Amino acid sequence: MTTIFGAIADDFTGATDLAGLLARSGVRVSLRMGVPDQEPTDTAAFEVIALKSRTAPVADAVAETRKALRWLQRAGAKRFFWKYCSTFDSTAEGNIGPVAEALMADLGVEQTIYCPAFPENGRAIFMGNLFVGQQPLAESPMKDHPLTPMRDSNLMRLLDPQVSKPVGLADRLTVARGAAALKSVLDTHKADGVAHVVVDAVANSDLETIAEACRDMVLMTGGSAVAMPLPALYLADGTLSADAPKATTPTLAAQSIVLSGSCSSMTNKQVATYLETGAPAYRLDPLELAENGAAPVLEWLSDQDLGQAPLVYATADPASVKAAQAKLGVAQAGEMIEQVLASCAVAARDLGARRFIAAGGETSGAITKALDVTQLDIGAEIAPGVPWCFAKSGGHQIALTLKSGNFGNEGFFTDALRKLEIA
Ligand code: ADP
Repeated sequence: MTTIFGAIADDFTGATDLAGLLARSGVRVSLRMGVPDQEPTDTAAFEVIALKSRTAPVADAVAETRKALRWLQRAGAKRFFWKYCSTFDSTAEGNIGPVAEALMADLGVEQTIYCPAFPENGRAIFMGNLFVGQQPLAESPMKDHPLTPMRDSNLMRLLDPQVSKPVGLADRLTVARGAAALKSVLDTHKADGVAHVVVDAVANSDLETIAEACRDMVLMTGGSAVAMPLPALYLADGTLSADAPKATTPTLAAQSIVLSGSCSSMTNKQVATYLETGAPAYRLDPLELAENGAAPVLEWLSDQDLGQAPLVYATADPASVKAAQAKLGVAQAGEMIEQVLASCAVAARDLGARRFIAAGGETSGAITKALDVTQLDIGAEIAPGVPWCFAKSGGHQIALTLKSGNFGNEGFFTDALRKLEIA
C-alpha cells in the first residue's frame, strides 16, 4: 500500500493521540517510534512518526523532523501534517514555528495553517486566542509548565517570534461561512505573503470545514483533531481507494498486565478504582526500590496469574512523590521507577502476557523501548486520544495501550481490557 498521508508528531503520546483519531475512520494507521532505520516497506495509507522533539534544541528538532519527512516521502506520501500539542507547547525560540518553516522549505510550499483546537478535550481557538476549557491558555495551568510555560493566549503573538515570514488569522466568522469562504481568505493571505495562518475552531464542525478547505494543502499543522476528518474526505474524493486495507484486530491470549508510573490526579483515581476490583496489585515504593532493586517485584510477578491482569504501580499522591524526590532526586527517582516498570513489562511478556496497559507518558516511552516496539498498528479507541495498538515484541504479537497522565476516565484500566474483548 502506498502511503498517502504522512504525519510527524513532536512527542510520543501526541503521536498516539493523532493516530487514534485518524483510525476512527477504520483505515489502517501505522505509528513509528522515531524515524525508522529501514527503508519504507509495507507502509499504511496513514503513517505517523513519533519524535521526542518538543523541547529539544531547535536545530535538533528541525534535523530530526526533516529526516522523518524524507522517510515519509519515500513511503509515497504527498500530504503532510506537523502535529504539536493542543496547548501549543513551545517557547519564543520554537519548536513549532522553526519546524514548520523547515518543512515548508523542503516541500516548496508558501503557506500552511495552525490549528491546535481539540474541542472534545476542551481546546478551542477564537479570534486567534487559545482556550483550555473556559480559561485563556495563559490563565490555565499551562502558565506554570516547567519546560514550556505559556504566558500568552494569542497564537499569532506566540508564533510570530518563532518564524521569519508573516503570520495571519482566518477567524471563526470566516470558518462559519464554510470551506469556500475559508479557502478564499487563505488565498488572499497567500497573495499578501502571509505564510502562517492561525485558523479559529471551537467545535468539531469547524474542524470539518477546515479539513475540507485544506485537504489538498501539501502541509497542514495543528493538534490531532483537525486531521480527524481527513481520512473520510480522502475516501470520498478517491485519494484513498475504497479497498485500502482496513485496521485489523489480531487474536491475542488474555494474559495481561497493567503498569502505572503516572502520578497525575486522574491516574491516581484510575489506580484506586482498579484496586477496588480486587485485581492482584504490587505497589512500588521508591525508597525500597533504591535499596533492593527490582528483584522483589519480579519475584511477585512470577507468582501471579496473568489471566487476572495484575497491576504494578508507582502511582502516588503529590506528597509521597515529593518525599521520594527529596530523598532520591527528581530525575533519579523517575528514571529508576521507569526502568523497574520496563523490566516488569519484559518479564510479564516472557511469562506470557500479551496485553499491556501503560499509564504515563515517560513510563510508556520506557516500556515501549524495553519491549523493543518500533512500529504499532492502531486499533480501537478506549478513550478520546487513547487507542489500543498492536505490535510485535520478542517475536510475539502483543496489544499495548499508552495513556498519558490525565487521559481516560476513572474506570480506564477495566474499560481498556473489556474493549479488547469486544474489538
Ligand atoms: P505523566 O504522563 O502523568 O506525566 P509520566 O510517566 O510521563 O506520567 O511521568 C511520571 C514520572 O514520575 C515518571 O518518571 C515516573 O517514574 C515518576 N514516578 C512515578 N511514581 C513516582 C513516585 N512514587 N515517586 C517519585 N516519582 C515517581
